[in-house]
Amino acid sequence: VRKAAKKQAAGARAPARAAVLGAGIMGGGIAFSSALAGIPVRMKDIRADQLDLGMTEAAKQLGRRVQAGRLSQARADAVLAAITPQLDDAGLDAADLVVEAIVERLAVKQQVLAALEPQLRPDALIATNTSSLRLADIARPLARPQNLVGMHFFNPVPAMPLVEVVRGPQTSDAAVAAAVAYALAMKKTPIVVADGPGFLVNRVLTAYFNAFNELVAEGVDFTAIDRAMEAFGWPMGPAWLNDVVGMDTGAHVGDVITAGHPKRMRAIDANPVHRMVRAGRLGQKSGAGFYRYE
Ligand code: NAD
Repeated sequence: VRKAAKKQAAGARAPARAAVLGAGIMGGGIAFSSALAGIPVRMKDIRADQLDLGMTEAAKQLGRRVQAGRLSQARADAVLAAITPQLDDAGLDAADLVVEAIVERLAVKQQVLAALEPQLRPDALIATNTSSLRLADIARPLARPQNLVGMHFFNPVPAMPLVEVVRGPQTSDAAVAAAVAYALAMKKTPIVVADGPGFLVNRVLTAYFNAFNELVAEGVDFTAIDRAMEAFGWPMGPAWLNDVVGMDTGAHVGDVITAGHPKRMRAIDANPVHRMVRAGRLGQKSGAGFYRYE
């Protein structure tokens, strides 16, 4: 797959300077992976506590690598220094590529990207990390929709090799090639996919989660399902995976993809993930989801 990706990069270069909007579960991991690849990155959030979280997580990741003898302390310090956490827009005008990793709401992404675009160089690219929304919709308010591409990373970003590079109906070949080159620079495995609800991986995963939700709604013990899927060989079962992803994000993504494939998927009555969101049990990030985290 990486060989095919090298062809798709078509000689394009990874960005020399990158930026990430959002320092949450995904944005923090993307900024870290960029810095680790030697590409300096500005990490913007609207919440200082989220910036702290992103930096703490990056420092933790680096500490592990230093302890395992995979990285020198000097190199770890340089990687951390390559991430600039910020609440303002400083330096975004110098970025070659900005990854958007904010909340999975179409109206919010449209509004934030429309405000961002005039601050960027005309040739700068915007890569959205959306899990489920169509690029065609996100691009609607943009003056340069050809510069919008999808870069769908997986969670946890430093550990997951796959990146779906999404070609929207207006995305330029140059934008696709640059996103592939960026993913390759991060030692990821990019695949180019078409624009559609859930792209490839989450479309498959939503069918899996829907089956899980149906079983739990029928009263099956979720821990038994997790144990079965782990014994099957998956690194974690669906309940735990929901907790890792974040229940609010997972619920919304599942709804969008289910609605986007009305002939193939149907909504679940008494969806346990919806119940969990209403109860504020958002998974690991809120201290409790299907499981409790101390
Ligand atoms: P999150 O809630 O952990 O983080 C989102 C961050 O964006 C928060 O820190 C928030 O303060 C910040 N933010 C909100 N508005 C902003 C703005 N205007 N400018 C800068 N920052 C802003 O969410 P997440 O799980 O990291 O998800 C982010 C995106 O990644 C979503 O589109 C989601 O669908 C996608 N995604 C999530 C996962 C996952 O497993 N969680 C996997 C793949 C893709």
